[in-house]
Amino acid sequence: MAEPSRVRDLLGRQSAGGEVRVRGWLRSARHAKAVSFLDVSDGSCVGGVQVVGAPGLSNYEAEVRKLRTGCAVIAEGELVESPARGQRYEIQASRIEVVGWVGDDYPLQKKRHSFEFLREIAHLRPRTRSIGAVLRVRNAAAMAIHEFFQERGFMYLHTPIITTSDAEGAGEMFRVSTLDPASPPRTPAGEVDFTSDFFGKPAHLTVSGQLESEIGALALGDVYTFGPTFRAENSNTPRHLAEFWMVEPEMAFCDLRGNADLAESFLRGLIASVLERCPEELEFFDGLADGNLIDALRHIAESPFERLDYSEAVEILERSGQSFEFPVAWGNDLQSEHERYLSERHVGRPLIVTDYPKDIKAFYMYVNDDGRTVRAMDVLVPRVGEIIGGSQREDRAEVLERRITDCGLSPADYAWYLDLRRHGSVPHAGFGLGFERAVQLITGLANIRDVAPFPRVPGYADF
Ligand code: ATP
Ligand code: MN
Repeated sequence: MAEPSRVRDLLGRQSAGGEVRVRGWLRSARHAKAVSFLDVSDGSCVGGVQVVGAPGLSNYEAEVRKLRTGCAVIAEGELVESPARGQRYEIQASRIEVVGWVGDDYPLQKKRHSFEFLREIAHLRPRTRSIGAVLRVRNAAAMAIHEFFQERGFMYLHTPIITTSDAEGAGEMFRVSTLDPASPPRTPAGEVDFTSDFFGKPAHLTVSGQLESEIGALALGDVYTFGPTFRAENSNTPRHLAEFWMVEPEMAFCDLRGNADLAESFLRGLIASVLERCPEELEFFDGLADGNLIDALRHIAESPFERLDYSEAVEILERSGQSFEFPVAWGNDLQSEHERYLSERHVGRPLIVTDYPKDIKAFYMYVNDDGRTVRAMDVLVPRVGEIIGGSQREDRAEVLERRITDCGLSPADYAWYLDLRRHGSVPHAGFGLGFERAVQLITGLANIRDVAPFPRVPGYADF
C-alpha cells in the first residue's frame, strides 16, 4: 500500500504515474453516470486533488455515490494526467475508504461563503480555501519572523502572560483573580482586598511583553518576544482584537533611528518571505483583491519607507484639504483615517512617523530635548494604518521617575523598572508589531476577525 501523501506534494510532482494515497475532506462531490468526481483537500494547499471513482470499486454503489461535501475519505489509486481543465493530475481510485460521513446540516458547500457567515462556524471554517490559506500564511509568517531575528542574533525571550505591571499605563487590562466575584474580601475601607488574592496583589493579562523584554535586552543585548497579548479596549473595529499576538524586539545600545531601521527591514523582509513561501496562497488572495494585492506587497518589500516627524505629519494633514471625521491639530493622536491618508494618499507606501507629543504617548518613552515630544515611532501602512508602534526607552532614572509621577502612576509600582536605570543603564529601543495586522496587510483581508483563527472581541469568545 502506498504511503500517504499531502495533496500539495502530489500536485507539485514532476510527472504523473505511481500508486498514491491521500487523506482528506471533500470540498465537493459530483456523481455523473457511472463515475464520481471527488475534490479531496487536506489543508496542505489552496486546491484539492480530484479523485475519480468508478463502479469497479467494491463500495461504489453502497458508499462512494453517497459521498457529499465534508465527508472524510482515504483514497488510493494511480496518479494520472488529468484531462480536465485547471488541474494537472487526478487520482484514478482503486480504493476509497469513507472515514467520516457528514450530517445533513453540514454548513459548508462548494459555493463561496461570506466571511461573516464563516465566523459563526469557526470550528469548520479552516476547511475552506480562504481560511485554510490564512492559516498557512500565519504559519509561514511566524516562521519567517523567528528566522529574521535568529539570523541577526536576537534571542527569543519568553515574557510572562500574567503580570502585575501595566506596560501602557492605560488600564485596558483583563483582571486575573481567584477571588469570589460575588463576595470578595474587603479592606476596612470597603475596597476589594487583593492581598488575599492569588498573587497577593492585583494581576492582569499582559498588554505587552515590553517591560520584561527590557530586562532581557539589558542583559542579553538583542532579544524579542512573540506571544499573545490582551487588551480590554472596547473597540469594535476591523483592526482590534481583545487577544492578539505581538512581535516585540528590544535592543540595547540602540536609539530611535536604529529602531526605525530595524522595523523597516523587518516588515519588508517579512513580506518578501511570505511572497516567497506562499505563492499559491497569495495568488488566491490576489484574486479576492481583484489583482491588487501581490503588486502592492512587492512594492512595499522593494521601496524604502518614507520618514516624517509627527509635526510634519500634522502639517501635511492640515494642508491636505481633506475633511476628516476627527480633528487634526498638534497634540491630538493620529486616527486611523489620518494614518491611512498619510500612507495611501500622501506617500503611497509605508511611512514611519516619529517624535510624537509626550502627552499622547506612554510614560516610558525617551523625552526629547524640546521637553514636549518623545522618541516614539509608528509604522503606518496602506489599508491597515498603524501596524507597528515603538520607541527609544527613557533610560535616565530621574526623567523616568518624573514621567511616571506626571502620568499619575506610582514609582513604587515600577521599582524594578526604575532599578534597570540605576544599574548599568544604556540607551535601548524596541517596537511591537501586531501579528494579525501584518497578516491583514499580507492577505488583503479587510477584517482582523478573519485572520485570527479564534478571534476574541467584545461580547464574543466562542470556540
Ligand atoms: P491602535 O491605536 O491601533 O489601537 P495602539 O497604539 O494601541 O494601536 P500599541 O500599543 O503601540 O498599539 O501596540 C503595538 C501594535 O500592536 C500596534 O501597532 C498594532 O499593530 C497592534 N495592536 C494594538 N492593539 C491591537 C488590538 N487591539 N488588536 C490587534 N492588534 C493590536
Ligand atoms: Mn490601542
